[in-house]
Amino acid sequence: MRGSILAMTLAVATTVATHQVQTVSMAEIAREYVRLVLALGHHDQDYVDAYYGPADVKAEADAAKLSLDDIAKTVSTVTEWIKGVPADGRDELSQLRHQYLLKQLSSMGARVRVLKGEHLSFDEESRALYDAVAPTYPDSHFQDVLDRLEKRFPGSGPLADRYDAWRRAFAIPREKVDPVFRAAIAACRERTLKHITLPAHESFTVEYVTNKSWSGYNWYKGNFTSLIQVNTDLPIYIDRAIDLACHEGYPGHHVYNALLEQHLVKERGWIEFTVYPLFSPQSLIAEGTANFGIEVAFPGKERIAFEQSTLFPIAGLDPARAPEYYEAQALVDELSYAGNEAARRYLDGTLDRAAASAWLERYGLMSHDRAAQRLRFFEQYRSYVINYNHGKDLVRRFIESRGGTAAHPDTRWREFETLLSSPRLPSGLR
Ligand SMILES: [Zn+2]
Repeated sequence: MRGSILAMTLAVATTVATHQVQTVSMAEIAREYVRLVLALGHHDQDYVDAYYGPADVKAEADAAKLSLDDIAKTVSTVTEWIKGVPADGRDELSQLRHQYLLKQLSSMGARVRVLKGEHLSFDEESRALYDAVAPTYPDSHFQDVLDRLEKRFPGSGPLADRYDAWRRAFAIPREKVDPVFRAAIAACRERTLKHITLPAHESFTVEYVTNKSWSGYNWYKGNFTSLIQVNTDLPIYIDRAIDLACHEGYPGHHVYNALLEQHLVKERGWIEFTVYPLFSPQSLIAEGTANFGIEVAFPGKERIAFEQSTLFPIAGLDPARAPEYYEAQALVDELSYAGNEAARRYLDGTLDRAAASAWLERYGLMSHDRAAQRLRFFEQYRSYVINYNHGKDLVRRFIESRGGTAAHPDTRWREFETLLSSPRLPSGLR
């Protein structure tokens, strides 16, 4: 088996070079794409986020031991194959699939170049890997929000400390974290099931972990199951329960992966969706939908009502203070792009590690420990950070442009489900 991918690749590359007409089937292309993603996983331990496809494809990819140069060459070859597939008679999903594979491969080529040491700026990298560039904001943008927060939390000493002291009353006590999460997950699932038909027997398990650069993670296992991990390194505030339950579970990552498996893998046999390359355009769709899904499931005042009636009591927090908490959080959320800004400046070298930490503490209103965790995230995942907030904004605009506004919740759910079930790309959201 060893070397077979490269041998086949070189044979076809020769064919392409001599302009002979040779059409490779989409099934064959998809299989080669999966092998390439798995092969790159040997050079980049974070690259393969999930794989539940055929074991023989994985065995072939493992045995071939492709070098980064081999992968880059094969990416070019498979790209030519895709371009050679006739466009006639494709339905919308098939067209999206075609575009999707081209962009995913182009992104893979960029990730290979980064791994080989090529320097891309933050924005160049995000465009190459995620098919999007996040907007840039000056310090004054964040300062305006901080000025409003100053009025909300008057006093002396750093604003971040005052905010932190106030917020302490809303941390979930350690022994209450699991029951609060379970209640949040049950509510997210119930709300999602009212609008989206999920595969029978879908399920996930929750684990609590430590020493991670992220706060939560969904590991999709295939067959409609996920493992969700929640990081307990830092205090978990009450808003994280709904945020994480929606984002990692319903209607976020777990639902996205289950719908792709159902509609694209099982119904259409498109095996490229059995593998999920983390550093790829698919991640912007995944993170953007997972974040936007929070307000799809809990629009407007419904969230506070649920928190007051259910989550605050389970956590042992004062339900009367829920509106106060979410009012202040809405203001703090306006600082969300401070994370991108710090990552861009740190990775582009205009801020060193200590300065980036201080900048995050000031403009992102983070505790020192939280800023340290974010820096570890930037180092591990780099421009991936844009997928959360810029991804959410792109997803929101796309769904609203199709009539899925807050005033039309049924349309919003329907468009959301359609997006979760299709291989749409970030540039296809505009
Ligand atoms: Zn996520």
